[in-house]
Amino acid sequence: MIQNSIPDIRACVPDGIYRTACELCPWGCGIEIHIKNGQMEKVRGNRDHPLNEGFLCPKGLALKDFIYSRERITYPMKKENGDWRRISWDEALDICAEKLEIIKVRYGPKSLAVAIGMPVLLGGNITVSFLRRFCDIYGTPNCFSVESICYRCRIIANILTLGKFPAADIAAAETILVWGNNPHESNPPAARNIDKAVKRGAKLIVIDPRKTASAKKADIHLQIRPGTDGALALGMLNIIINEGIYDKDFVSNWTIGFDELARSVAAYDPERVEKITWVPARGIKKAARLFAVNSPSCLVQGTNSLDQHINGLQNSRALAILFAITGNVDREGGMVTTSKLRVNPLRLPEKMEGQPLGVERFPLFYEVWGRAFGEGQAMALADTILTGNPYPVTGLIVSGSNPVLTWPNSYKLTKAIKALEFTAVMDMRMTATAQLCDLFLPAATFLERVELCDYYGTLHAVPFIALRQKIMKAGEAKSDMEFWLELGKRMGHSDLFPWNRVEEVLDYALSTTGVTVEKLKQQPGGITYGEKMIEYYKKKGFSTPSGKIELVSDTLKSLGHDPVPVYHESPESPVTNPAMAEEYPLILTTGARILEFLHSEYRDIPKLRKKCPKAFAEIHTSTARTLSVKDGEEVFLENEIGAMTITARVTEDILPGVVNVSHGWEDSNINLLTNDISIDPVTGYPLLKSLLCRIRKKA
Ligand code: SF4
Repeated sequence: MIQNSIPDIRACVPDGIYRTACELCPWGCGIEIHIKNGQMEKVRGNRDHPLNEGFLCPKGLALKDFIYSRERITYPMKKENGDWRRISWDEALDICAEKLEIIKVRYGPKSLAVAIGMPVLLGGNITVSFLRRFCDIYGTPNCFSVESICYRCRIIANILTLGKFPAADIAAAETILVWGNNPHESNPPAARNIDKAVKRGAKLIVIDPRKTASAKKADIHLQIRPGTDGALALGMLNIIINEGIYDKDFVSNWTIGFDELARSVAAYDPERVEKITWVPARGIKKAARLFAVNSPSCLVQGTNSLDQHINGLQNSRALAILFAITGNVDREGGMVTTSKLRVNPLRLPEKMEGQPLGVERFPLFYEVWGRAFGEGQAMALADTILTGNPYPVTGLIVSGSNPVLTWPNSYKLTKAIKALEFTAVMDMRMTATAQLCDLFLPAATFLERVELCDYYGTLHAVPFIALRQKIMKAGEAKSDMEFWLELGKRMGHSDLFPWNRVEEVLDYALSTTGVTVEKLKQQPGGITYGEKMIEYYKKKGFSTPSGKIELVSDTLKSLGHDPVPVYHESPESPVTNPAMAEEYPLILTTGARILEFLHSEYRDIPKLRKKCPKAFAEIHTSTARTLSVKDGEEVFLENEIGAMTITARVTEDILPGVVNVSHGWEDSNINLLTNDISIDPVTGYPLLKSLLCRIRKKA
C-alpha cells in the first residue's frame, strides 16, 4: 500500500513569514516561507542573505510542490510478501532494534552498514556526527556517504597539498577559472557571482568539453577531451614555470618540492599536451598566462568532474598546485578558508569495532595525518556483501540516498542489496533503492526539522551560519536525528543519548561556540560567524607535516603513489585500448547536472519534470550525422558493461565524438553502463567521466 492522496502536511508555527536556508541542493540559498491559514502559501528569496540576495533557481521556486508532492510517503511501511503494509513508528523502531541486535549477535557489529546521501549531509556537520555517534555506539565503523564518489577526493588532495580545503573568492577575483563546472546548471549562486564579476571586468576561463552557458561568456574556452584534465593542468604548470610567471617569493618561502615539480612538469610541453587533450597549444598558453598574471585568480572546480577518474586525486593536486604557486592561497579574490565553528564532538569512535571497509586499500580516504573523515569507501560495499570477504555484511540502513541509481555498477549493487538479511530506507518518497528494501521510514524535509546549516564557509568562502527551523509538519515523517535518537534509546543506550529533543543535541554540540539555538532563532536567516582568513599562513603556516605547501608529497610517496602529480590515460580511451575504441568509438561522460534536478531527486515534481521530461544523450551535430541519428530520435547506447535506450539530443555545444549523459533517471539509468573496477588508486573514486561507448540506431 502506498499513499497516493495529498499527505497530511501543515504548518506547525503561527501564520507569518519564516526565514530559513534552502536545502534542495547543497548551496543553502536564503529563503522566506510564507505561512497562511496554517499552510505554506509561497516561497520567496531572502534579499538580505549574503549568498543569493533574493534569487531562487527553478528548484527553489518549486519548493511548495516538493513539500506537498503527492509522491511523499509520510508513514512507516513494512514489506510483506512483496507488498507494502503501513505500520506505526513503534513497530518500525522495534523491527530496527530487533534486527540490529540479531545482526550484532550473529555476525558482529561491523556487519551493519549505514549509507547516507545528500539530504543528510546537508543537514550539517552536527547531524552527520550524531548519526555516526549511533554507529559508534552500536559498534559499526561501516558508515558510508555519497562522498565515496563525490567531493571528498578533492578535499583530500587539497589537504595533502595545503593542509586545508579553500573555496573560490569569486566576488573579488580578477580571473576566474571554471574547470569542469557548469554553474548555471549545478550552482546558480556561483553562476550569478561569476556573471557579476565578468560584468565588472574580471576575466573568465572555462575548461569543459561542452559549450556551457559560462563557456559562451568566457574570454577563453578550452574544449578538452574528457579525462585529460590532469595533462592540461600539468601543461599549464609547465608554461607558468618555464616563463617564470609564478609567485617566486611565495614559492621559495612557503612551498617544498618546487625543483622536483619543475622537473616533472617539464615533460608536459604545450605541444604534447595538445595531442593528449585536443586543446590547441596556443589556447593552453593563453589560459596559463592569464591565470598566472591577471591575479588574484580563483578556481571554481566541478563538484566531481575531475575526481571521478583514475587520476582523481592527482587532478585536484595539480589544480591546488596551480593556484598555490601563482600566489592565490589565503588571498582576497583567490582561494580562501573561513574560521570554523569548533563544536563539542558527538562521536565516540573508541566504541566502534575495527576500521571501515575500503580503508586498508585507501587509507587516505579515511584519514590524513590523524584527521579522520570517519567513513568507509562505499565502492567496497557491494563486493563485500556478495563475497562475505573480509567479513559478512548482512544489514544496511540507507538514509536520504538512492545508490541503485547514483552509484556505479547498478547491476552488482542491486544484486548485493537483494542478498542482505535486513534493509531499511529512510526517504521522503519511494525510490529505486527503497523498492528493494524491507522497511520504509518516512523522512522529514528540511522545512520539517531543526538543524544547523554550517557549511557556507567551506562551499562559498562566506563566513555565515543559519538555523533551519521546523516550520511544517508532514504526517509521521521524522528527521534523521529524531530517528537515530529514538533508535538509540530503544536499543538501551539512553545514557549515551541523554537528550529528548534535537534542539538539546544542537545546544550540546554548540556549547563550545558561544552560539545557541535560541540565539540563532532570534536571527532567522543566519548570522555572520568568524571571518575570511586572509594571509593566515603568515600567522600559523600550513597544517601539513612540513608547515609548508607540499608540492611533493612524502605522504603519497610513502604509500606508493606519485609524490608529484602525473597524468595517466584512462584505461578506456583510443590511446590505451584501441581495440575497444574500434568497437566503442565514442567517449562517454556521465553525471552532468541538470538545473531542475539534483542527482535522482525532483523528477516527481511536474513543474520541474516538464522542463526536462526524459533522459538524453547529448552528441555533436557531426557525430549525429556520421551515425545518421536525428535530434529527438530514440537510440541504443551501449558499452562493454550494458546497454540502454535513450533519446539523442543533437547540438553544436559539445565536442565531436563525446556523449554526455546525466544520471539519476530511473527509466534510463546510466549506471547500468558504469563500473566500480577502474578507480583512483588513492581514494577509490570510480571512473565515470571518460568511458568508451557507441550509439546505434534502433531501426
Ligand atoms: Fe535552493 Fe536553488 Fe539555491 Fe539550490 S540553488 S539552494 S535549489 S534556491
